[in-house]
Amino acid sequence: MADCVFCKIAAGDIPAAIIDEDDHAFAFLDIRPLTRGHMLVVPKEHVARLADLKETPRRSLWDLVHGLVPRIEESVSADGMTVAVNDGSAAGQEVPHVHVHLVPRKKGDGYGPIHALFGTPKEADKKELGILAEQI
Ligand code: 5GP
Ligand code: ZN
Repeated sequence: MADCVFCKIAAGDIPAAIIDEDDHAFAFLDIRPLTRGHMLVVPKEHVARLADLKETPRRSLWDLVHGLVPRIEESVSADGMTVAVNDGSAAGQEVPHVHVHLVPRKKGDGYGPIHALFGTPKEADKKELGILAEQI
């Protein structure tokens, strides 16, 4: 898509620190890293939402994610990784081109789990969980 920043990076029109790629997806360092080594894994073809991804780019995307997590952890001496997708503007997605955030984490870094975004959850009603499971 012409005015999409990640399409421009994919086309080589905007520079980025590209870490890995295959025919359908690639990974590059985030320009405003949350922690050192923060990376984005992105399909080469423009799609806005996870549900729009076709099987081949979907496999490429998640294969890159799986391969990169241990590589990044070793490179930046991280102890873990927050793997996150803001899927849709309601979920905080700012660039409307699918991307998986890989954010290296260290023991005691103080950021906590992404659950912390939502405050303290209450135990769900079991019947309601059953009804919801049927609906989904
Ligand atoms: P979102 O909020 O859409 O999930 O995340 C978008 C991410 O893209 C942000 O972390 C932001 O720093 C990153 N980003 C936006 N523009 C650029 C860019 O031009 N180059 C790189 N490397 N990252 C970008
Ligand atoms: Zn795009």
